[in-house]
Amino acid sequence: MRVSWAGGELTFRLGAVDEITGKAADEHPVKLATNSCTVAGVPEDAHPDLFAVAAWTVVAPWTRREIVFDRAISPEVAAALHDGWGVEAGPVGAEARRTGTNLAISYSGGADSVAAAAIYPEAPFVHFRRVAHPRVPNRWPHYRSDVLARLAKRTGRELTIVDSDLEFTLSEPRPGYPEHHAVAVGALLHADRMDLGGLAFGYELGSRWLGGDRYLLRYTPDNLMWAPHGAWGRLFAAAGVHIVLPVGGVSEAVTMRLALNSELKEHVRWCLQGTDGPCRTCGKCLYKELIQAAVERRPLDTPFTAEDPRARKWLQPPPYGGQEMVEYGLARVPGIENTLFGKALDYFDATEESTSWLDHCYPPALAEIPAPWRYQAAEFMTSEVGLMTEAEVRRVETWGA
Ligand SMILES: [Zn+2]
Repeated sequence: MRVSWAGGELTFRLGAVDEITGKAADEHPVKLATNSCTVAGVPEDAHPDLFAVAAWTVVAPWTRREIVFDRAISPEVAAALHDGWGVEAGPVGAEARRTGTNLAISYSGGADSVAAAAIYPEAPFVHFRRVAHPRVPNRWPHYRSDVLARLAKRTGRELTIVDSDLEFTLSEPRPGYPEHHAVAVGALLHADRMDLGGLAFGYELGSRWLGGDRYLLRYTPDNLMWAPHGAWGRLFAAAGVHIVLPVGGVSEAVTMRLALNSELKEHVRWCLQGTDGPCRTCGKCLYKELIQAAVERRPLDTPFTAEDPRARKWLQPPPYGGQEMVEYGLARVPGIENTLFGKALDYFDATEESTSWLDHCYPPALAEIPAPWRYQAAEFMTSEVGLMTEAEVRRVETWGA
C-alpha cells in the first residue's frame, strides 16, 4: 500500500498482496469502491504522524503487509502499526514524536456524544460531515449530514466541521467509515492547530466493555478498537492524540438521561434520516425509543407494530445487538407486553433489580481515561451517576459468560 496526501486529497495505491475486500477492526466485511477521498481544510503543516494515522483509518482494511507513506513517520507510529497489524510501515524518520495538551470531542450529535460533551463543558467539538464524492454516485441521499451539522452549530460550542467524502471509498456494505476511527480524520489533521492531546468519543459501556453491537454478549476488556492498550488506542497515542471515552463506563440509558438533562438537549439527534426530527421509523429510532421510554418511565411511543417486517428480529430469540439495553427496557417500559417487544419478554427474566447495574458507572472505565482528563470525568460520574458496587462490576465482567 502506498498513500499520499496532496492538500486534503488522500490517494492510495494497493500493492500486489493487498485486496479490495477486507475486514474492519470489528470483523465486519467491507469492500473498496475507489482509491481516493478528500478531507477539507487540512492544515498542510500537520505532523506527518497525523497524516499517517488519518490515512490508516481509511486504508487499514485493504492493507496486508506493508504501507509506504509520502512523508517520514516517527518510530513510535511505525511500531504501533507493526505491533497492532503486523504491517511494515515507513519511511521512518527522525521526526520527534508529537504531543498536545487539549481535549476535543468527536461530536456526532447523538445522545452518547452529547453526554460526553456534558462532562467537558469547555471542550471544543470536531464534527465530521459527509459530502458527495465526485466519482461515486450517492445511493444514500436520505442520510442528512447537513441537518446534523446545523444542529452541531446551534450548540454554541467552539466547533470545527470537517467535510469529507471518505465514506464513499466503501462500496459494501454501504458508504460508511472503512474503520470506525475514520470519523476522527478531521480531528487528527487539526490536532496540531488545536494542540490536541486527546480526542473524546461517545462510545459507551456496550461498545467499550460489552462487545458492542457486532460482538454480541462478550466482556471485552481488550477491545481492539477502544481499549487504550488495543491496537487503535496505541496508534492514536503514538501520534499524541489519546483516545478518551468519558462515557465508556455507563450504559445508553445513562447517556440518554444525561443528554436529555443537558443544556444541549434541543440539539440531540441520533437518527440520520428525517429533517425536522428523528424519522421514528428506522431501526435505530425504535431502539433509542425503547431506551428513552425506559428512562422516562412511560409507554413506548412508536409507529412500529409486531407485524412490521422490520420488527421481525424482536420476534426471534436473542442474542440481540445492544441486548443489555433491551433487557433494561423490557424491565421498565410500562405496557411493554402489548408492544412489538412483547414476544422478547419470553426470553428474559429482566427486572429492575437485575438491570440496575446499567444505571451506574463501571469504575475501570474511569481508570483508563488519561490522567489530564480523568479527574473531571470521575467527579462527574460520582456526583451525577454513581459508581457500580462490586456486585454490579461482576455483572459487567461476567457479561455473556
Ligand atoms: Zn430514524
